[in-house]
Amino acid sequence: MITIPAHLREGLIAHAQREAPRECCGILAGLDSAVDTVYLCRNVAPAPDREYLVDARDQREAFQSIVDIGRDLLGFYHSHPAASPALSLSDRAHAYYHDVAIVIVSLATDPPEITIHELAPA
Ligand SMILES: [Zn+2]
Repeated sequence: MITIPAHLREGLIAHAQREAPRECCGILAGLDSAVDTVYLCRNVAPAPDREYLVDARDQREAFQSIVDIGRDLLGFYHSHPAASPALSLSDRAHAYYHDVAIVIVSLATDPPEITIHELAPA
């Protein structure tokens, strides 16, 4: 299971709150399952209030940076502005990377809730 330190969790929540009612999204990197780097990405989904699609250029740049700074890709995150932090059907359908975590920031509760989902290998 990956770990996300408190100050980065606060950053994820802040990103989610800025983008609401749209879902925010981004990429998490670090070493030994400990997240230390967050890449904020653009959500280019057709219906960004209920799904997310990481901008291809943002993802490419993040992946290159992860290599450049010697980190590992640890996960993707996105927000659920009004829903629980459970994986939606769309989230499962779009989980192309089965060896990394899917982190969801839910703004449906006060305080916001962050959950880490790790899918079984495909
Ligand atoms: Zn979702």
